[in-house]
Amino acid sequence: MNDYIKICPECNTPVPLSSRFCPQCGACFSLHQADPSPLGSAPSPSDPASDPVRISPKTFRGFLLSDLEICIGSQYSVYMDKFSKRRQGKHTFNWCSAIFSTEWLLYRKMWKAWLYVYLLQSLWGLLYNVFLSVLSFFMGFPLGFLSLAESHLGLAVLFILVYWLIPSVILGFLGDGIYWRHIRSLLIRHQCFRRPPVYEESLVQTLQEEGQTLTVWEFIMMYLLCRLPSWASSALMIAGRNMVLKLLGAIFR
Ligand SMILES: [Zn+2]
Repeated sequence: MNDYIKICPECNTPVPLSSRFCPQCGACFSLHQADPSPLGSAPSPSDPASDPVRISPKTFRGFLLSDLEICIGSQYSVYMDKFSKRRQGKHTFNWCSAIFSTEWLLYRKMWKAWLYVYLLQSLWGLLYNVFLSVLSFFMGFPLGFLSLAESHLGLAVLFILVYWLIPSVILGFLGDGIYWRHIRSLLIRHQCFRRPPVYEESLVQTLQEEGQTLTVWEFIMMYLLCRLPSWASSALMIAGRNMVLKLLGAIFR
């Protein structure tokens, strides 16, 4: 067989290699794989009593579970659990999104979301720096984290907590929703909404490549590439901070 498709032993339909169930007839593949000899007698998958899960085709919000499985990859069960909870109106929290934010978005190939979050983070950093310059001008706090930490350690810690904590908590609560929207638009783009469970190798390959995650090397490359504008914006923020100080100095002489 090949890298993307296997043949269902029950109905001979080509199905994605990652699928645990046949999306066409509902046969459970773990039963076949657990059986070392193809002609082995037990357990018989055609016996309905030995195979209680035989509902076909299995879907979630109009998408085949087998399609979702290809897109999400190894974390399929974790994310389907989160998506189902969100479907019931419950809140979910994504720790990866909260702690790693833009890196997590890159790792899961959410390019558009990465751009939005990156721009928002830059704006947040800019506002934060302006706020710090105003505080430092009127209250005499030293500018820059290290000098502030030397004289007012508690204040420095508080500033850093507010700076990091607020966006992290927000992104933690939004993460799973952002990821669902990414998967949904990927499947819709490839005409996978309310479709029959028929698989071709090219479709499985495309969904796998556009969904799932970056490899370690791809991630390192993307990370470094995306850090470049970050360094530039940090330099801009420091320049902006100094400009605010000069402006305030000119107004309130
Ligand atoms: Zn089948």
